[in-house]
Amino acid sequence: EWILHNDQFIQEEDLKISMEDRGYQFGDGIYEVIRVYEGNLFTAEEHIDRFYESAEKIKIVIPYTKDVFHKLMYDLVEKNEIDNGIVYVQMTRGCAPRVHQFPADCPPVIVANTKSMERPVEAMRSGVQTKFVEDVRWLRCDIKSLNLLGNVLAKQEAYEEGLFEAILHRGETVTEGSSSNMYGIKNGVLYTHPATNLILNGITRRVILELCKEQGIEVQETAFTKSEALEMDEFFMSSTTSEVMPIIAIDGHKIGSGVPGELTKKLQKAFEEKLKLTGNV
Ligand code: PLP
Repeated sequence: EWILHNDQFIQEEDLKISMEDRGYQFGDGIYEVIRVYEGNLFTAEEHIDRFYESAEKIKIVIPYTKDVFHKLMYDLVEKNEIDNGIVYVQMTRGCAPRVHQFPADCPPVIVANTKSMERPVEAMRSGVQTKFVEDVRWLRCDIKSLNLLGNVLAKQEAYEEGLFEAILHRGETVTEGSSSNMYGIKNGVLYTHPATNLILNGITRRVILELCKEQGIEVQETAFTKSEALEMDEFFMSSTTSEVMPIIAIDGHKIGSGVPGELTKKLQKAFEEKLKLTGNV
């Protein structure tokens, strides 16, 4: 199993990370997860653009051009012979004696690995159950930061109840999932939280909004409340690994008739068509 360490491919057991890596001590870094279908990186450019944008937002300079970075990701997938799976890549501000402010002369540390993973076809067919959890994260959720404690605690709460995802809300307003974006459909209109500082603008979210345009589904990037969520005709979530995932219940309340909705299924089909068109499945 090869991993990437800065611009070197090494064996995982040979990786050494310093205790004073700022990712380890402060969560001072960023990450991306890129889907691999049939050996191809899906929407790689969008993920790489977002990685560079996250870096800029926390003032880390990535020492490679986007093209070089893309090739490193591609080579890692090829070296590990990943057919279906993901690439995980993270970058921290680097290693230095522990002080909160940015240290001088601190080269960033990049690591990446791969994991084989099949598409969650069974869950996508049957739909999944969820619960509401208060969103207690910070106010820069647009940054794909390594600080995931708020997300981790929310997911754990759902997991302990045998649920697939936690739907986060600030007060009455639904924001996103612990590791996904959220959508409701009411009278044929798709609603999702606007891409503000309160959510991560998912790459899958952008694909879905594009597909809605192509399919003639009206989109309102407008936040909705918890009670509006429960009254939606259909509900689903999206992420790099979950694609278009129908949500059939929230806090034990059925959404619609408690099965994946028609427009949700239409979007799943359109998503799959896009994978086929781009040579991904
Ligand atoms: N929102 C959060 C908090 C996430 O962690 C993720 C992805 O893991 C998403 C949304 C979905 O983003 P993407 O579609 O780019 O995977």
